[in-house]
Amino acid sequence: RGGLVVVGTPIGNLGDLSPRAIRAFEEADAVCCEDTRVTGKLLAHIGASRPLIRCDENVIASRAPGLIERMLAGERLAYASDAGMPAISDPGQALVDAARDAGVPVEVVPGPSACVTALVASGIACDHFFFEGFLPRKEGERLRRLTALAPIPGALIFYESPHRIGDTLDALAQVFPTRIVALCRELTKLHEEVLRAPAPELAQQVRERADMRGEMVIVVSAPKQGENMPALAAASVPEDPEAAL
Ligand code: SAM
Repeated sequence: RGGLVVVGTPIGNLGDLSPRAIRAFEEADAVCCEDTRVTGKLLAHIGASRPLIRCDENVIASRAPGLIERMLAGERLAYASDAGMPAISDPGQALVDAARDAGVPVEVVPGPSACVTALVASGIACDHFFFEGFLPRKEGERLRRLTALAPIPGALIFYESPHRIGDTLDALAQVFPTRIVALCRELTKLHEEVLRAPAPELAQQVRERADMRGEMVIVVSAPKQGENMPALAAASVPEDPEAAL
């Protein structure tokens, strides 16, 4: 019975909490989570009360050995991040890694993830895709990273915060001037919205709007055959060997 259950949770719509996720929380001896307030609210919503163990990215690696011991001794621990699938731009992976190394059984209860939800919502060809997560914050590093990603033969998926969306769309317009970009905002929530246009047009549209708030994912279409690949020099930033894929 002892083991780790990694539980996917809603990204904005409580209706997406699966019956299996609810059962996993109810049956767990304790629930490890990124933020005890966030997961505490979710448990209160389903009327479950379980001991909560804070396990955010700062402490998850150091807490892992103690948690592994508990699971080897027969406890069943659930793990949830604040929203979506744990381990996807969220903590969780270090605990799964440690559990697998120690021979602790691991179960995953799949739930929504913003990256896959955005990919499908974008309508952009998605038979091949690459999930990048958050881009570097510094302009030069961001351009170098985008340039390194340019040859990938599939759609690209980025997470972004509303504070940087304008700058990131400008960078996309610079590196991918002919590609279609979808901005997928507030997915599964009341104000869900998908804006889709060639990169320079979308950057312009978003610059003209004052209300670009909420959570957002960017999807960029794959390179077309014969598309000119941006050179590092064309992105006019100094070379950085660490920026290579
Ligand atoms: N683990 C989560 C998952 O599986 O999607 C991702 C966590 S990451 C820290 C948070 C980022 O995911 C946000 O900054 C945003 O880019 C994206 N995100 C999460 N929920 C979203 C939503 N409802 N709509 C659009 N983007 C969302």
